[in-house]
Amino acid sequence: MARYLGPVCKLCRREGAKLYLKGDRCFTEKCAVSRRPYPPGQHGQGRIKLSEYGLRLREKQKMRRIYGLLEKQFAEYYTEASHLRGPTGEEMIGLIERRLDNVVYRLGFAVSRRQARQLTRHSHIHVNGKRLNIPSYTVQPGDVISVREKSRKIAYVAAALASAEARPAPGWLEVDKENYAGTIKSMPMRDELNEPALKEQYVVEYYSR
Ligand code: SF4
Repeated sequence: MARYLGPVCKLCRREGAKLYLKGDRCFTEKCAVSRRPYPPGQHGQGRIKLSEYGLRLREKQKMRRIYGLLEKQFAEYYTEASHLRGPTGEEMIGLIERRLDNVVYRLGFAVSRRQARQLTRHSHIHVNGKRLNIPSYTVQPGDVISVREKSRKIAYVAAALASAEARPAPGWLEVDKENYAGTIKSMPMRDELNEPALKEQYVVEYYSR
């Protein structure tokens, strides 16, 4: 599946919020949102008045960019969520949260979802003891996610785990730092997600318009 390869700080500036796409840099004064808190481009510093549609579009883009998904895949999560029993917005977040690349990031093995995706694609991740290199794989309660033994020496994995205190894992995950592993305890709970204010209702309204 394709992925976005352009400059990521511009995405945060467009959304007017830190989306934490670059790992440790996001917590320093080098963060572009702190240095240039206005949208990129020639008219970035002009007056911005969003329409009702624009508001929903921005919220949809923000959520999509936080999770590093392209439009087609993101819209497919909406379609899948709309067929589930719970509120569509919550179901959608639940499905995306259970992506393997997101779980690797949440467990602290990577400093960003982009890095987690790369770790997964490069076969450094095992699920229930077996190599699994599909970032979009949906984990289930009881699954054990671990870093392949040989890969535990990779400097950026160790560094990510060491700095994971700043990014505590949500309650639906249990981390075993010593063994570079983590268990899915339950389904993700909407209240536990410490994302920059997601407004999933707007996302649902965007797609159901
Ligand atoms: Fe760049 Fe991270 Fe700041 Fe976003 S939060 S602008 S990705 S440094």
